[in-house]
Amino acid sequence: MSKKIIIAGGGHGGITCGAILAKNGYDVTIYERNQADKMGHDWTDIFDPKAFKAVGMEMPPREMYEFKNNMTFFGPGMTTRLTQDVPEDELEIQMERKDIYKCLTDYALESGVKFNYGVTVEGPIMLGNRVVGIKTDSGEVYADLVIDACGLNSPVRMNLPEHLGIQKEAQEFERFYVYRAFYEKDMSVEVTDKYRVLMFYKGKLGISWVADDGEYTDVLIGRFNPLDMDEVERTVESLRAEFPDLGEKRLRGGQFVQIPVRQPLGVLVADGYAAIGDSAFMTVPIIGSGIANSMKASAILADAIMSDKTDSYSAKILWKYQRGFYSEFGNGLAPLASIKLLLTRLKPDELDYIFATGILNALDMTITADSISLYAMVKDMLIPKYLKEKIKGLAGNPVILKKVLRLVKDIAAITAVTAAMPLQYDVKAVNKWVKAYNACFKA
Ligand SMILES: Cc1cc2nc3c(=O)[nH]c(=O)nc-3n(C[C@H](O)[C@H](O)[C@H](O)COP(=O)(O)OP(=O)(O)OC[C@H]3O[C@@H](n4cnc5c(N)ncnc54)[C@H](O)[C@@H]3O)c2cc1C
Repeated sequence: MSKKIIIAGGGHGGITCGAILAKNGYDVTIYERNQADKMGHDWTDIFDPKAFKAVGMEMPPREMYEFKNNMTFFGPGMTTRLTQDVPEDELEIQMERKDIYKCLTDYALESGVKFNYGVTVEGPIMLGNRVVGIKTDSGEVYADLVIDACGLNSPVRMNLPEHLGIQKEAQEFERFYVYRAFYEKDMSVEVTDKYRVLMFYKGKLGISWVADDGEYTDVLIGRFNPLDMDEVERTVESLRAEFPDLGEKRLRGGQFVQIPVRQPLGVLVADGYAAIGDSAFMTVPIIGSGIANSMKASAILADAIMSDKTDSYSAKILWKYQRGFYSEFGNGLAPLASIKLLLTRLKPDELDYIFATGILNALDMTITADSISLYAMVKDMLIPKYLKEKIKGLAGNPVILKKVLRLVKDIAAITAVTAAMPLQYDVKAVNKWVKAYNACFKA
């Protein structure tokens, strides 16, 4: 009899993992709180198109995506700007979120995945240390394995027993509070920089953007603290004064949402359980992109599940996924969480200084704001060399230098700790390791 897999929440990586498993004879059901026609947000996303190939999918039809524009970064004082220069063959693509979901769900349905829409997952069902199913608002469901694809605030992850070592909540500076909407665009205004990203705009700790999206002007306001509509309106008004192509009328979107911007979850698995995507904090910590990572991780998870000859889906067996994910991405993502923490420690005038003196240049912004080149650098372990160059330029500013030196120390610690991840799953050893891992990321 085929093994029963529950996917809690219709996250991107959950859907693609389900598709690979269903194609290979597993009995896969996704429990998703939204209805089918409400899947995905009313906005566009930018991600690495190689994710499709990683999960065995064709590229979407050409009319569904555009190649992404280079971004121009503005320092807090709005007097300095740096424009990326991403090589053409490394450009990411931009697609409507609803279209991404359509492609993924079509692929999953063709592969034999069953979707149960309109069902809210409430938590895991435990039998001893093992996850044996999920509680939902329409009853309990049992399975051989639960894949948690419920996102940042997953009720499955948040209700697991403490002793499994799986962190429940994102901490301070680990979630980005975002408002996003598309406004009417004043077509009479000529726009030279299409993708304008504002660092610490108006001295607020956060990142915003005003992007020319063809028909619309796409506005995102992001902070490390919750923001309300009054603040959004004030910020949009001052952005309009800065960028006159940003029109008055809001045409699409207008949601308040959250993005994990932190290191990946330290422990991804338990007996009968694996977390993926935002449930496992797989976004790139500085820029919050998580679609490609969650899809690529899903291929690693599916492989670990299918190679389980014991059909036990124990943490010991699923540890192959944990180690595979960290070796492919996690070890590279974790130091980036530390770079993000440095940003939270800098004052706006310090960031302006870094922009104005050229310590950060267009190449740096190309590397640090796009997940493809960022990975290349992290994978090749170029970060220490890269930081060494930066430190030279900071000799004249001891305050910033001290902050950057702390970063160097943190990255060295993270690299040592991730390298020491247990080779095999043993609950005691894993708990000891994860304590050391989590301790590397103190705000
Ligand atoms: C404003 C914004 C812009 C972004 N831009 C980009 C971008 O350009 N590129 C990029 O790569 N990433 C981007 N991201 C991040 C990206 O959305 C996520 O990293 C990505 O979606 C992976 O997360 P996920 O699919 O695992 O989880 P989610 O996208 O959170 O999906 C979780 C799913 O589970 C369902 N669910 C949640 N709770 C329950 C429950 N209790 N019961 C049942 N179902 C439940 C949800 O309805 C949802 O369908 C952006 C995020 C935001 C908020």
